[in-house]
Amino acid sequence: KLHNTIQELKGNIRVFCRVRPLLSGENSSDEARTISYPTSLEALGRGIDLMQNGQKHCFTFDKVFVPSASQEDIFVEISQLVQSALDGYKVCIFAYGQTGSGKTYTMMGRPGNPDEKGLIPRCLEQIFQTRQSLRSQGWKYELQVSMLEIYNETIRDLLSTNKEAVRSDNGVSPQKYAIKHDASGNTHVVELTVVDVRSSREVSFLLDHAARNRSVGKTAMNEQSSRSHFVFTLRISGFNESTEQQVQGVLNLIDLAGSERLSKSGSTGDRLKETQAINKSLSSLGDVIFALAKKEDHVPFRNSKLTYLLQPCLGGDSKTLMFVNITPEPSSTGESLCSLRFAARVN
Ligand code: ADP
Ligand code: MG
Repeated sequence: KLHNTIQELKGNIRVFCRVRPLLSGENSSDEARTISYPTSLEALGRGIDLMQNGQKHCFTFDKVFVPSASQEDIFVEISQLVQSALDGYKVCIFAYGQTGSGKTYTMMGRPGNPDEKGLIPRCLEQIFQTRQSLRSQGWKYELQVSMLEIYNETIRDLLSTNKEAVRSDNGVSPQKYAIKHDASGNTHVVELTVVDVRSSREVSFLLDHAARNRSVGKTAMNEQSSRSHFVFTLRISGFNESTEQQVQGVLNLIDLAGSERLSKSGSTGDRLKETQAINKSLSSLGDVIFALAKKEDHVPFRNSKLTYLLQPCLGGDSKTLMFVNITPEPSSTGESLCSLRFAARVN
């Protein structure tokens, strides 16, 4: 039986906060602790408090996951959204937070450890299992995967096998990777590789391929820090042979670029340009979700590639979940406060 926590809540935009555990070598003394949150996982509380310079900042989200929450605990809370995508909804799940806060861990997990698989592999397993079990009721599903990253407001095709073709700013054709939305709400990215998939193994193979195509930058904070947004898209077309029902769902899983502010990453030159592009697209995403949550007439989708790409999957009867990832490290209190404020605005 699937949990129906998300369904029970009103509206279509949810925010979950996840606090990752301290890693070995990080300051774990109680005196230095600046974040307080529900201590038992059973409580699955909604509140998180953060102390900065003797001042307490309190936030409430749809759910707060404590450091001991496992990948399975997280997945249980989102599996209803996966079912929604199979039922024909457009779903977006984002991971937002500073570099090192656990976004990639949440989305992908730790390679080589099945218990620590992240949301993307778990979602796919659920989808392939459900597809199998719905076969007896006459349902046939076709699944298509694409993976891209947005780096400096430029799309890169992560499933391209042609190295030259990975980037859209290589001067070959200005139309390459242009984003088009059709009248029925489908998004088409010109010349983007789209792959039919029949098993979660096939998808893991594609994920490995995409990982090798990703751009990784070095910042003072984290050598592996990702300076681009990673967008995993699964298109789901279902057809029931006996009832002739048809469904078209989309599941987007997005590992956003690090949200850390300029000064801390010591940005100059190219890195400064990257940081500005990241700041712009993250604030545009915040503006869009905020406008949707407030049901404003004008939603500024066109202010960034990311929001324009995802436009048909945000708003309307689509479903959006934002994870705000936080590190418990006292030295990151400032960044954590920024992330919590961002998330509180869209919540
Ligand atoms: P980000 O993608 O936000 O930069 P990562 O997902 O790479 O951050 O996480 C940074 C480090 O913390 C990695 O070594 C990761 O394995 C570890 N980590 C993050 N979240 C957890 C967690 N919930 N449990 C255990 N380790 C975690
Ligand atoms: Mg990452």
